[in-house]
Amino acid sequence: MDLQTPLQYVKGIGPARAAMLEAKGLSTVEDLLAYAPFRYEDRTNLKPIAKLAPGEMATVVCEIASSHTSRLRRGMSIFEARFRDDSHGSLTGKWFHGDYLKTVLVPGTRVALFGKVDFDSFTGALTVMHPEFEILSAEDEADAALHLNRIVPIHEAAGKITARVLRTLLWRICESLPPLADPLPGAIRDRLKLPEYIQAIRHLHFPPAGEDLRLLNSFRSPAQFRLILEEFFWLQCGLLLRRGKVRLQPGIAFELSDRARDRIKTMLPFKPTNAQKRVLGEIARDMAEPHPMNRLLQGDVGSGKTLVAAEAAIIAIESGYQAALIAPTEILAAQHYLYFKSLFSKLGYVVVPLTGSQTAREKTKLKELLERGLVHFAVGTHALLEEDVSFKKLGLAIIDEQHRFGVMQRLRLMEKGTAPDVLVMTATPIPRTLAMTLYGDLDVSVIDELPPGRRPVVTKHLSEDRIEQVWSFVKREIDAGRQAYVVYPIIEESETAALKAAEKMHRHLSETVFPALNTGLLHGRLSADEKEDVMHRFKGGELHILVSTTVIEVGVDVPNASVMVIEQAERFGLAQLHQLRGRVGRGAAQSYCLLVTGRLNDAARERIRTMVDSSDGFLIAEMDLKLRGPGEFFGTRQSGLPSLRIANILRDQEILDLARREAAAFLDHPPSEAERVGVLNYLRDHWQKRYGLARVG
Ligand code: ADP
Ligand code: MG
Repeated sequence: MDLQTPLQYVKGIGPARAAMLEAKGLSTVEDLLAYAPFRYEDRTNLKPIAKLAPGEMATVVCEIASSHTSRLRRGMSIFEARFRDDSHGSLTGKWFHGDYLKTVLVPGTRVALFGKVDFDSFTGALTVMHPEFEILSAEDEADAALHLNRIVPIHEAAGKITARVLRTLLWRICESLPPLADPLPGAIRDRLKLPEYIQAIRHLHFPPAGEDLRLLNSFRSPAQFRLILEEFFWLQCGLLLRRGKVRLQPGIAFELSDRARDRIKTMLPFKPTNAQKRVLGEIARDMAEPHPMNRLLQGDVGSGKTLVAAEAAIIAIESGYQAALIAPTEILAAQHYLYFKSLFSKLGYVVVPLTGSQTAREKTKLKELLERGLVHFAVGTHALLEEDVSFKKLGLAIIDEQHRFGVMQRLRLMEKGTAPDVLVMTATPIPRTLAMTLYGDLDVSVIDELPPGRRPVVTKHLSEDRIEQVWSFVKREIDAGRQAYVVYPIIEESETAALKAAEKMHRHLSETVFPALNTGLLHGRLSADEKEDVMHRFKGGELHILVSTTVIEVGVDVPNASVMVIEQAERFGLAQLHQLRGRVGRGAAQSYCLLVTGRLNDAARERIRTMVDSSDGFLIAEMDLKLRGPGEFFGTRQSGLPSLRIANILRDQEILDLARREAAAFLDHPPSEAERVGVLNYLRDHWQKRYGLARVG
């Protein structure tokens, strides 16, 4: 047996169990060895029943003497089992609603019980409430050393394979492993005093006697530390290599001409902030290099990222290239199209939209223009990535809202030009640690300053029975010359239902609540022209109120709008709420965000409170990540989020930092050629499978 042996050939695992393990993503011995226990139990305090004292956590090996279920009032029931051992003591275990246990804990069965011993003041007997237990078979008692009298690992069950079966399997595997080379470079191991791979794996599953339980349960035992560090180390090496590789490829060296500078000045509607200037400098320097740029542009909502992207586009266009912007949704693409068209109108650039909802004829025509090089700037959705779209000379690709975009798509786009420069804009600020895992292969620019004169948006929470107050507030703002958004959630399962709600609300608002005002409706099912028309009328001030589903989440820019009403705000995630709020507060007037909710559960209350208390996008993003966990924060694998086994981005930030430093130092100055090659080989074999990421090169 070696690390690559398929699990189904391991003793004790047949095809059925192998399938259950496979469903957890575990197919080889190496995979199973990396399957870390999620907690540990101290079963060293093994005692005969007669020696138990109330108040202690204890492990008891005993036999079930009898059991029964008592019915209590109001449908409650309680399952009680009496346990005995050779010490002639007696102990009762109790489980509320435990009637199902009667087929498991039958008299005569031998079990290991683990729990807190109490004293029943009525009967004077020793009891344990809801103890953990494991049924012991004759065979198990032979290796009782494994399940008892030690710190025991608890693995998450895989299908029908319980924690104790996993423990037995892992024990056997650990026992019969041949000696293995440690993949982690020796210099790093020595310097950080990390245990060797095999030892770390053994101690991960079977902690040595005397290991600190608290360390174990906070994932900081030496073995756990090493394995977490290792997982991050490979990830960072891969990302850094990918970045280095792209950096060495030949790319376009754009000219930073005076003419380009002049044209940027002509285009700019306002004086850029210092942060915008600094970031443009970073981008321009990259663009001038004869290698492809791979840069991430981060900044809070409204910090003026789009303007910087437009400046970068001018540099590309003035060097004789085409530029393109890809947005995640049609409405966003439509928005960007309008914005860029107006910015570039003074410059005489040809700007075209290309989205999925255009007619075949329109598309054919636009594609031809692109191919002949008659278009300077194209704005579109994924449609721009279709195979039959080709550019004459694509020099710069701007990707908005990267996290809905896979790495694969990024690569596909790069294939459309001869290694065009890529600028990724995120609409949602990404917490630093996550940015590092996700975008370790990108250089990062941050706009950390809002345009002058912005006042924080005043955010209030109101329950839905106060909706009339909300409407009268909206009315007052509109009377003062402002405009308002009213947003409804799209529930993914039922876009139609949300649509209906928005339509109904639109009717209600325009006919009953605000008959004298002009109310528009915007949703994802409108055609591109219809969307453009509604947006245009809202922007021009003809519409006072825009009722919308979340399609306006990003990119909409109407500085005169000062109120954002979000209905059923409890249904939105934090990042989404923050994005929506970012649609107001863009002009000089004080703006307001009114979060209208029904009943709140704890998580929703926390989100709403965060919104009311904070306007800092990075802080909100950290909170979002905490509340939802990294998986959901970005959606799953296809979003390019690496899958981690033992490491946890939230819990292990400082180890991630360390791993990144180590990876960078190692790649810059590998201690020896052999070790460098060793790392490359390891990555080649593990990168795709282990992290679910695209190939390094
Ligand atoms: P982001 O894309 O970062 O959310 P935008 O580029 O949409 O931000 O800019 C938000 C708003 O601020 C827009 O109305 C934009 O025209 C305006 N804006 C951008 N930069 C400046 C600036 N330097 N001074 C004043 N207003 C600006
Ligand atoms: Mg924007």
